[in-house]
Amino acid sequence: MSGDKPAAGERPFADRLLAWFDIHGRNQLPWQSPRSAYRVWLSEVMLQQTQVATVIPYFERFVARFPDFNSLAAADIDEVLALWAGLGYYARGRNLHAAARQVASLYRGEMPNDLEAVQALPGVGRSTAAAILAQAFGARHAILDGNVKRVLARHAAIAGWPGTPKVAERLWAISERLLPQTRLADYTQAIMDLGATLCTARAPACARCPVADDCLAYRAGRVAEFPSPKPARARPYRRATLLLVENGQGAILLERRPPTGIWGGLWSLPVAAEGESADQLLRQRHGVRIEPLDTLPAFRHAFTHFELELTPLVCAVIDDDAVAGEVHERPDQRWLTISARSGDALAGIGLPAPVLGFLSRRYAIPTSAPTSATDPCPAPSTASSSGKKPKASRVRPSPATSASASTSRSRKKPGPTGSRTRPG
Ligand code: SF4
Repeated sequence: MSGDKPAAGERPFADRLLAWFDIHGRNQLPWQSPRSAYRVWLSEVMLQQTQVATVIPYFERFVARFPDFNSLAAADIDEVLALWAGLGYYARGRNLHAAARQVASLYRGEMPNDLEAVQALPGVGRSTAAAILAQAFGARHAILDGNVKRVLARHAAIAGWPGTPKVAERLWAISERLLPQTRLADYTQAIMDLGATLCTARAPACARCPVADDCLAYRAGRVAEFPSPKPARARPYRRATLLLVENGQGAILLERRPPTGIWGGLWSLPVAAEGESADQLLRQRHGVRIEPLDTLPAFRHAFTHFELELTPLVCAVIDDDAVAGEVHERPDQRWLTISARSGDALAGIGLPAPVLGFLSRRYAIPTSAPTSATDPCPAPSTASSSGKKPKASRVRPSPATSASASTSRSRKKPGPTGSRTRPG
C-alpha cells in the first residue's frame, strides 16, 4: 500500500475512526451542546496550545458572561482579558475580541459559513476555520492541527518535518482525502481525539488504535520516527585568534574581558576577532608590541547560540623602548608566570574553560577545573598549522614561581626559532 492510499477492500479510515469515536470519543464537552458556531469558535481559539481540561472552566465562565458574538463585541477589552487571565497567550484574547467585533459588524453577529471569511478573522488560521465550520455546520473541510499532523504523518509514514510547506501540503492532501461524506462534526472531533488520547507524542497506544491495521509507521515498527522533528538550526560559526603573548621571563599576558559579551568580566588570553589585527589590538589595549611566532591548531568551543573557532597565535614581546615607555600596570591586564604547579592557581583565576584547557595543554599543567563546555576541545597538537615541527615554548617553567601576577616585561627580541606567522 502506498503512503497516501488505503488498501482496496479496507474499511475506510473514517468509518473505523467514527466507530471508535462513538464508544471512546469525547462527546460530552461543553461546546458540543449546544454546538453553536459561537461556542465552537470560542472553544477552538481557547484550545490553541491549551489542553481541554484547562479550557473547560474558562469556557464556561466566558459563555456565561458573553453568550454570543454581539455581547462579546460590546464588551470592554479589559473585561475580556480579565476573564482570559490564566489561559496564557494573551494575543488570543485580544484577537478573540477583535474577531467578535468583525462578526458583529460584518455578519450581524452570525458566523459566516465560508472558509475564506472565517479564515480572515483575527486569530483564525486555515485548520481552525475548517474545524469551526465542520463542527458548527457539518461543512466538509479538512483540518490539520498538531495532533492531526502527528496521526497522519504516522499513519501514512510521511517523512519530513510537518512545518515545511512540502510536507504540510502532503498532509493536507491526505487529510482531505480521508474525509467522510457525512458526520463531519463528529469526524473532526474524532481525529482530534485520536491524536490527543491514543496517538500521543510520547506514548502512542497503537494496540487500541482503530486505524492501526493500515498504519504504515506501526506496521513497520517505526512509530517513533514520525513525524520528523523540527531540524535543529545550525549554530552560527565565528572565528577568532587567541593571543598567547609570552615574555622572556616566563609570563603570559592576561586581560580582563569587558563586562558584557562572551566571558564577560573574566580573565582570559586576549582574543582578536576575525579580521582584527592582533598587533594593533595588543599595542592599543595593552601597550605591548609583539612578534608573532607560531600559529597553533585551531580548536572549537560551543556557546549556546554560536560556535567559536579559536586559533592560538603564540607571540613574543618585542623590545621596543618607545612602546615600553607607554606600558604601565593596568587594571585590566596582568602577567601570569606559568609553572608546572600553576594548575590550581590558573583555575582560581576563573579563566574561561576553553582558555584554561588550552593553557593546561600547552604547558602540560594538570588542573582539576573543567576545561571544556559543550564541545570538547581536541587534544593538543604539537604540530603547527603549517605542518612544521613545533617551536619550543619560549616560556620556561620556573619552579620558584606559581601562577602569580607579575609586572615583568621582556626587553629581549624573540629568538631565532620564531616562525614569523602573522595574523591575517
Ligand atoms: S497505530 Fe499507533 S501510530 Fe498509527 S495512528 Fe494509531 S496510535 Fe498512531
